Parts: sequence; C-alpha cells; structure tokens
Amino acid sequence: MSEKLQAPRGTQDLMGDEYRAHAHITAVANQIAETYGYEPIATPIFESTSVFKRTIGETSDIVGKEMYTFQDRGGDDLTLRPEGTAGAIRAVISNGLTQNMPLKLMYTGPMFRYERPQLGRRRQFHQIGVECLGVSHPYVDVETIALGYQILKTLGLADRVVLEINTIGDTESRQAYRQALINYFTPMKDKLSHDSQDRLMRNPLRILDSKDEGDRVLVKDAPQFEDYLNELSKSFFAEVCVGLDSLNIPYQINRRLVRGLDYYNHTAFEFVTTDLGAQGTVLAGGRYDGLMSQMGGPETAGVGWALGIERLALMITPPQQTSRPVALVPVGDTAFASCFDLAMALRQQGIASDIAYSGNVGKRLKRANKINAGWAVMIGDDELASGVAVVKTLDSGEQKNIAISDLISYFKSDT
Ligand code: ATP
Ligand code: MG
Repeated sequence: MSEKLQAPRGTQDLMGDEYRAHAHITAVANQIAETYGYEPIATPIFESTSVFKRTIGETSDIVGKEMYTFQDRGGDDLTLRPEGTAGAIRAVISNGLTQNMPLKLMYTGPMFRYERPQLGRRRQFHQIGVECLGVSHPYVDVETIALGYQILKTLGLADRVVLEINTIGDTESRQAYRQALINYFTPMKDKLSHDSQDRLMRNPLRILDSKDEGDRVLVKDAPQFEDYLNELSKSFFAEVCVGLDSLNIPYQINRRLVRGLDYYNHTAFEFVTTDLGAQGTVLAGGRYDGLMSQMGGPETAGVGWALGIERLALMITPPQQTSRPVALVPVGDTAFASCFDLAMALRQQGIASDIAYSGNVGKRLKRANKINAGWAVMIGDDELASGVAVVKTLDSGEQKNIAISDLISYFKSDT
C-alpha cells in the first residue's frame, strides 16, 4: 500500500486567496520600503551553521532548539535560515560592502524553525525584513518603526495592532542590569525552568523573554531595566519617543520587552495584536549595533525588523483579481480554432482570457463562472457565418451581439 504523501508537519501549501494575501503583503511592503530607500537583496536559504550560532546566541530558543541543522554530502555544517538578519549582515561582509555605509537592505522569503505548529506558528514561515546599517542616529529607529507602521496601516491594520517599545540600553547599562538580574534570580534558581537556569549565568536578560508560566511569575517582581539605564541610554530612548510623537505614531512603553536575540541594544519594539491568540507579535525588531563586529566586520550601527507574513495574512482579506478574464466558449467543433485565435489575440493585448477545451456549452459556461470570468463569448457555426459573436455578461446574464472583428477593441475599452 502506498503511503499518502503530505506536506511536512508545520509547512503549508499556499494557494488561492492565501497565496494572494502573501503576495499582497509582500507587494505593499516592497513598494513602501522603496520609498524609504531600501534596496532588495536575497541571500541563500541555507548558510554555514556558525552564521546563526555565533550571532543569535547559544542560549536563544532559536539556536538551542529550533534550527534545522544538517551536514551536506560534502560534510559542511549547514542550517536552514531561521531568520534573515544574520545572513544579510554576512552578505554585506562577504561582498566587501562594509565601507559603503549607510546601507538600507530589505529581503523577503521563507524561514525555518523547528517549533510546535499552531495558528501563526509554522516550521516554514515567511518574513519580510529590513536592515538599516551604518547610522547610529535615534531617528533611524524612528524611521524604521515608521516604515513598519506605514506598511501595517496600508494593509488596513493600524487599529488592530499596538506598538510596544522599550530600550535595553547600551553595553554599560546592560552589564549593570545583567548583574541585578543575576542577584535577583540566583536565590530562586531552583524555581526557574531548566532553560532559564541555563540562561541565568549566560544571558539572564533572556529570562525576561521566557514563555514558561513559572518563569513569568518570578519575572513579575524582577528589577526594572529603567533603574539601570545610564544617561546616554535614557536620552537615546527619549529621542526615539519624541520622534514617534512627532509622527503621531501611537506606542506603549513596555519595560518587559526584550528581544530574544543576543545582538540587540537600545531600542526594541514589537507591533502586537490580540487577534491571533498567543502568536500576537506581527512585526518585531530593534537596534543591533553589536552585530556586524560580532560577525567579524567593523563596528557598525544597525536597526531592523522582520514581520511575519503568515500572521498578517490571517488578518487581512486579499484584494480580488482586478481584471476578470474573458471566457471563449466555442459552440461546436468548427468554431474552436477561431475561439483559440481570439483568446490568444486578447492576451497579446493584455486582456486575460481563457478557453474551455472540452464539454458542451453548459459545462464550458460553468467553467467560465468558476474562473470568475466577466464575460462569455459564444461563437458557433451561425456566428462564424454572420461574423457576429454573442457576448454574455456573466453577472447580469445580459447578452449582446458584437462583431467578431470588434471584440478586441470592445474588451480593450471594457476591461
Ligand atoms: P515569537 O515570540 O512569536 O516566537 P520571535 O521572537 O521568535 O516570535 P522573531 O524572531 O522576532 O520572532 O521574528 C519576527 C516575526 O516573525 C515574529 O514577530 C512573527 O510575526 C514571525 N514569526 C516568528 N516565528 C514564526 C513562526 N514559527 N511561524 C510564523 N511566524 C513566525
Ligand atoms: Mg520564537
């Protein structure tokens, strides 16, 4: 007995409206990002494992338990990309672009994480991401957030998302806060989840990001980041807030918001919705001035975000096809060739058309409805003889006679 073939767990075949929703989100994001000066790039879907291990951090969920890592036939240690930033920075370094700052890059494509599949959480999912490199001005953080906001707004989601922002400060502030967290969590170490015990010495900030319920209770009374920020970190964050205010972008400060990855500093932000259950974050990012040098490049400022296309696709209704096709319906065999030629001629003029290859008139009209055709052009022996076709407007059922030689100009003005 042959086994029934299915897409792997956590993956999805995209078709119909779901595909259109993805394409719409991508088109909107591309078009708006271009107005902000972003250049598209595409990096490989797999990279050397070290690209992610070194940057995302050994104690992160991604590196710890979510990566699709394998050895290829040549023995190279490779990983399907779990996110886009590390690969983008690797590309900048590999292509010798580190002196070409500032650089604004955007990418889109599939990402892979071994997670428990649920609504808005897949093992293969799609992100659109932007990275602005080489500018440490706080208004770049503002501009990057504004870009995300404009995309969400254009998708009709401005009222369904909330922007949460926080600062995780500069290195000095983070060191001070790190120590405070170690002092706080160490006496209760046994009550922490296994993962968080591991994080305690390596990266205690991560504990704040833990999804474990028990951890969350302990996190409630943990020291506040605010109390450990130095002046520089505070004023940087204040400027970001002023910039958002000046653009009338609403936000909430969430002092518990930390990004799950190792390379972030200063601004962290997320656009969240309550519409998708636990998978509420639709766009997330922040500043990552430490990343480029961590990967072997020069000290370079960076800000970026990534949005999850699946999660947004669950929230929007994709626009329908704007131009509906013309269905050619040959009535009898002799008219087939003329119908075929007409279909081809319409397409040459940029008018969508379709011809049903088999079946009686009823069946062919059914197909016309199925493909959402606007019109059915019926041509049989009589029509061929008279040179006049019957054009049926499918929504109203109204029929007209149009000279076959006029059909192209008729549809050119009508579609
Ligand atoms: P979460 O807390 O939901 O696991 P994350 O912090 O792991 O998110 P990021 O690495 O910041 O997510 O990725 C940016 C965005 O990509 C997320 O906000 C989300 O919209 C989307 N995303 C992340 N993981 C998945 C997934 N497994 N399936 C679908 N979308 C995802
Ligand atoms: Mg995650």
